[in-house]
Parts: sequence; C-alpha cells; structure tokens
Amino acid sequence: MDDASTQLYARACRHIPGGVNSPVRAFKAVGGTPFYMERGSGSKLHDADRREYVDFCGSWGPLILGHAHPAVVEAVCAAARDGLSFGTCNRLEVELAELLCELVPTAAMVRLVNSGTEAVMTALRLARGSTGRNLVVKFDGCYHGHSDGLLVAAGSGLLTHSTPSSKGVSAAAAAEVLSAPYNDVQKVRELFQERGDAIAGVIVEPVAGNMGLVMPDADFLPTLRGLCDQHGACLIFDEVITGFRFHAGAYAALAGVVPDLSVFGKIIGGGMPIGAVAGKGEIMRLLSPLGGVYQAGTLSGNPVACAAGLATLRTLVELNPYPRLASLAKGFADKVNGSGAPDVHCAAYGGVFTVFFTGKTQLRSLQDVMSCDTGRFAAYFQHMARRGFYLPPSQFELNFISAAHSAAEVEAAAGAALEFLASSSAFEKRSSPV
Ligand code: PMP
Repeated sequence: MDDASTQLYARACRHIPGGVNSPVRAFKAVGGTPFYMERGSGSKLHDADRREYVDFCGSWGPLILGHAHPAVVEAVCAAARDGLSFGTCNRLEVELAELLCELVPTAAMVRLVNSGTEAVMTALRLARGSTGRNLVVKFDGCYHGHSDGLLVAAGSGLLTHSTPSSKGVSAAAAAEVLSAPYNDVQKVRELFQERGDAIAGVIVEPVAGNMGLVMPDADFLPTLRGLCDQHGACLIFDEVITGFRFHAGAYAALAGVVPDLSVFGKIIGGGMPIGAVAGKGEIMRLLSPLGGVYQAGTLSGNPVACAAGLATLRTLVELNPYPRLASLAKGFADKVNGSGAPDVHCAAYGGVFTVFFTGKTQLRSLQDVMSCDTGRFAAYFQHMARRGFYLPPSQFELNFISAAHSAAEVEAAAGAALEFLASSSAFEKRSSPV
C-alpha cells in the first residue's frame, strides 16, 4: 500500500501537468515522490503520512516568522471576516505602502502586485518606459520569475544576444536581454561600451539566492550603479529573496547602493500571494494612471495579503530576529565547514545558507556553482528527510532559518548533515590511504 503522499501524487499527475503547480516541487533533482504537506506550525511541517519535519524551505522564503505565526494568522482571519477582495481601494493597501516606503528609504512610491514575477515584469516595463530603450542586462544564475524575456541563457559570445532557455519564449523576447556572469564587472563594462545607448536597465539579485548563496563582490553592486549612472540606465535590485531577509528593510541599505527600482515579493505578504515594485518617484509616477506605462491587477493590494504583510513586517520590526538568525546560520555553516569533509562548502549569510557539494570554497558565479555534485546533493536531501529535516529539493537554493527555529533544531540539523558527510563516499575516498 503506497503512502498518502504517493497516492496524492498519482492523483495529481492525472490532472496537473507533472503533478505540480511549480516545477521544483516535483523532486526531479532529488528523486522520489514529493511530500504532501498538510500542516505547518512554527518551524515544523507535517506531511500527509503524519511525518514531522523541521522545515528549512519556509515556503521558499516568506515564512521568516515560521509557519502560521499567531499575529499573521490573526490579521489574515480578521481581514477575511471583513471580505476577501473588493476590487476597490482599501485601507490596508495604504498602510502597507506607507510601511514599505518607511522601511525602504530608496522607495518613494510602491505599486503592489500578486507575485515576484509580476513585480519584475512591471519593473522592466518601467525601465524601458522611462529610458525609451529596449535592452536589459541580467546575470547568469539569477532568477527573476518566469516572464518571457527573463527565461534566457547567455549566448555563446559576450555580445551575442541571449538564447531562450524555455520553449515558447520567442527569439525576439530573448534578444532583448543580455546575460553576464555574476560578479563579472568587466563583462558588464564591455556590454555598456558596446550597447550602452540601447540598455534600459540592469536587473540583479543583490545577493544571489537562486544558484545557492552567492555573495556580491565588494565592487560589484557599486560598479553596476556607476555604469547605470554613466549611461542613463535604470538599476533594478530584485529583492524578492533579500528584502527584509537580513534586516527590516532592503539589502540595498546594507550594500550602501541606491537602486532606481526595487522588487519585493513573498516575504512582504508573509505567505500570501503578493509582490511589489518600489522606487524613485520620478520613475514610479510613470505608471498608469499617472503616466503612460500600463500595469493593472484585479487582486492587487487585496486586503488579506496586505494584512498578512503588515503583520509580518510589523512583527519583524518589533522582534528584530536578524542577529539571532545570522548566528544560527553561521553555527550551522561552521560545523559543516569544520567537519574536515572534502568536497563540501557551506556558505552562510544572515539567516540563510547553502551546502554546496563542491571542492571549491569560493563560489562567485554560476560557473563555480555548476561544479557541484548534484547526485550527492540528492543523497544528502534524502538523508536529511529521513532524519526529519525538510530542505529545498535542489542544490541550487537557499536554506532559510526562521524566527521559530530553536538553536537545538539547527544544531540537530547540523548533526544530521555531519552524519551524512561522515558516511558519504567522497569523504571515504579522500580520507583513506591510497
Ligand atoms: N525574483 C526572485 C529573486 C525570486 O527568487 C523569485 C522566486 N523565487 C521571483 C523573482 C519570482 O517570484 P514569484 O515566484 O513570486 O513569481
């Protein structure tokens, strides 16, 4: 008799392509059947087979306060009792916009949308609308949602246009996006030298999270700012992951770099669907109905998502969980890096970390990250799941620690990771005499 998750997956596959509503959930990178979660509470997830996990995925980022935080649930219930959506203006969207602009000083104005993908689409349209140019520069390994133009891979030559990385994306859409290696300021300089008069904007994850954790070099973000200034292009920070992750504001403030536009998502809705584009007044005022850059959304600014976002952000400000999250992540990374196991490196910053299965200790770009042994990651994922730890099911992701995690839980996860490293074949190969 199959377990409940396997049965649900079989049913799902009959009516949902691949059984999932977002591809990474299908466990293709780690094997086995996806776990069907039924309940989340604090740091814990419970699946349909009554297994309990300490969760290091946190719904891919928004649950920085943990699952079903009482203040967030209460705010959502109170808002829902007053009506789920009006399709009109409402008080909560005003309060959330005010709070976002207060916490993100580089944001004079904000437009709320329903996902990170949508917010990025709006930011790019604003960049193009404000500059009258078409080209956008992005970085290999950064993810900015699934809109056409951003599903591109770098072309073979630096100055060739990018190629679509998904079927259904037209060559014309891909041709408007140039991709450069993360942290490669020289490549970006060359792109601006060649095409500067056609570049509308540069979009970047200011700390990369979608290839696993890759930090920006000290000169990377300031150089992007300088080049955009010099050539009249918009600098867009995609802070869907980094926003409110490392302090109660944008990563831009920590980097000391002022972007023209910032994109936020997930975390500002505390688990409800939301996204936001925010930035300088002169650019934001180009949005309809003030200006000629069109953007709209039936459910945008809906009161339930705004209530969840307000409760999350207010709690973050009050609680300031950030120093504790950072020390928990560092503690995990120190244990893994101090294990003596070869071919593994744990990168950590703030409350996030990635265990990279590679011999490299400096990971600065997608090319570095691609050295990872993904088969070994899959074995690690399954080991951790058996020990009761749910990780994002791919090597190229962040693990998220929430305010609800206890030090003992993080320590236990590190212990389980060390157990895996001690038993895995790469360790044995290197440590046994030849
Ligand atoms: N930008 C970044 C940096 C992201 O990590 C993501 C999703 N993880 C997105 C944009 C897209 O957000 P969404 O899935 O809400 O559309």
